[in-house]
Amino acid sequence: MKNLTLLGATGSIGDSTLAVVALHPDKFNIFALSANQNWQKMQLLCEKFTPKVVVMADALAAQKLAQVVDSKIEVLHGEEALCAIASATETELVMAAIVGASGMKSSLAAANAGKQLLLANKESLVLAGNLLMQAATANNAQIIPVDSEHSAIFQCLQSGKSGLRKIQLTASGGPFLWATTDSLATVTPEQACAHPNWSMGRKISVDSATMMNKGLEVIEAHYLFGLAAANIEVVVHPQSIVHSSVYYADGSVLSQLGNPDMRSAIAYALSYPHRIDSGVAALDLAQNSPLEFYPPDLHKFRCLQLAFDALEQGGSAMGTLSAANEVAVEYFLNNKIGFLDIAKVLQRSLDKANHHKINSLEDAIANDKAARKTALDAIQYYA
Ligand code: NAD
Ligand code: MG
Repeated sequence: MKNLTLLGATGSIGDSTLAVVALHPDKFNIFALSANQNWQKMQLLCEKFTPKVVVMADALAAQKLAQVVDSKIEVLHGEEALCAIASATETELVMAAIVGASGMKSSLAAANAGKQLLLANKESLVLAGNLLMQAATANNAQIIPVDSEHSAIFQCLQSGKSGLRKIQLTASGGPFLWATTDSLATVTPEQACAHPNWSMGRKISVDSATMMNKGLEVIEAHYLFGLAAANIEVVVHPQSIVHSSVYYADGSVLSQLGNPDMRSAIAYALSYPHRIDSGVAALDLAQNSPLEFYPPDLHKFRCLQLAFDALEQGGSAMGTLSAANEVAVEYFLNNKIGFLDIAKVLQRSLDKANHHKINSLEDAIANDKAARKTALDAIQYYA
């Protein structure tokens, strides 16, 4: 029986994680759950999974929750408590499924405590990739990717890195794969969030529509697998059946395939190096033909190009890009800027920012703060 801390329990990855856990009451026990504000949903999760500790980011939400749950459940709030459940001695597995930069400190806390870190929060790596990977190495923490593409690469690399030439991340292309650039000027948040294959939180859904998600994933892959930008490629694959591929010197290509359902990657991360039932239906290849592959359109999807640029620049540029993106996506979701303005805000933020090395968590936090301010200034041009 393994104890699990699930950070971001009320979100889309949180739902899928709990669905897998519920299939295996003999293997996993929920030690702690966390969420931002949704105490009503957390109340239901507490009744079903009886965690020992719950952390709400929001103090008022924690107060409300404490009044309605079993008094044996300890209800805490704030970032310090979040780091405490990520590093507690009682837990072996930590699922990092908070969205955005808010997940950075707790991911780092789990790595510093030597946990098996199941990493969905890609923003942690983009903001502080070196720090997180170094913390994991220094403390024998194992980082197991949960992002489907990185889980695919991680699975393929079980055969080793000898003769590795490149990795190839697949991208669905999102809801606007075939739309003209001009028509994108007027798309609504609802259209942007209507992903053809995956059901996800709103921020990552918009990131998929701009292909910024793939850009963040290129940076995520750079840190997870220690590869230069030149060895990381993106290919558009609208069916989302091939989750990513690894190319070797002898001409062999290994890919991981499956239905587009995050429970497969989550089950693998939970049970690694073993495999368990995830509840996902077996893939029927004949029902999914043809499988198509295209090069990405970097002019239409400028965010993807900007992510490659930021990776080449290195240091703080990647964190600047991700922070500016969080701000721009929030403004887009609130109908304050247009879809095409997102890339413009990112470009302007990158141009205006001072680029430097990230040597500490404080550096990463300061850079995130500065980038958000730069992005807000940039937004004034488009709002
Ligand atoms: P979501 O919006 O559905 O859920 C986010 C979770 O984080 C919620 O539980 C929310 O309460 C919590 N949260 C939000 N703000 C917080 C804050 N300030 N402090 C503490 N907790 C906070 O998001 P999601 O789609 O589940 O994505 C979570 C992470 O996983 C993201 O980094 C995303 O990029 C990554 N990811 C998601 C998917 C997917 O299919 N949804 C796939 C791959 C990677
Ligand atoms: Mg992904």
